[in-house]
Amino acid sequence: MNKGFTLSREIIWHITCGECGFYWTYPTMQSDEKLTDRKWYCPLCGKSGEAQEISDQVNTNA
Ligand SMILES: [Zn+2]
Repeated sequence: MNKGFTLSREIIWHITCGECGFYWTYPTMQSDEKLTDRKWYCPLCGKSGEAQEISDQVNTNA
């Protein structure tokens, strides 16, 4: 029996609602999951629609 530890990488996406500004997170273990091909519903205001991925938000202009 393996008494060691195991590691699994989890990806946590942030989904931000363009209507009310609320954001929530979506954790997944599948790095190739296409989140742009599905419909999202804002849990706060109920807006629905597809999501666009934006590039990294790290500010490199400093
Ligand atoms: Zn919303």
